Amino acid sequence: MSDTCLNCGMPVEGKYCSNCGQSTEEHTINFHFLWHDVQHGLFHFDKGILFTVKELFTRPGHSIREYIRGKRVQYFKPVSLVLILAAVYAFYFITST
Ligand SMILES: [Zn+2]
Repeated sequence: MSDTCLNCGMPVEGKYCSNCGQSTEEHTINFHFLWHDVQHGLFHFDKGILFTVKELFTRPGHSIREYIRGKRVQYFKPVSLVLILAAVYAFYFITST
């Protein structure tokens, strides 16, 4: 962890740069890092989708109200979720017929 942001050079306190938002954690580029990058870049699956699907099945009103009121960090983004579920359904529909 560095005292200055490696992206913009601003002084940093905490886990993220308050200027550009880059994480202050420096990861070595290895297989784990690359796999995480693929997950994050292509699917944004690193957190939220399973939690969001579980919440939508078990407490749909509660989770939607929480999201609307601003508690969004733990939830998957709704438009991305709809697109992924549509792609899963399309894949299922194509392969089952
Ligand atoms: Zn920065």
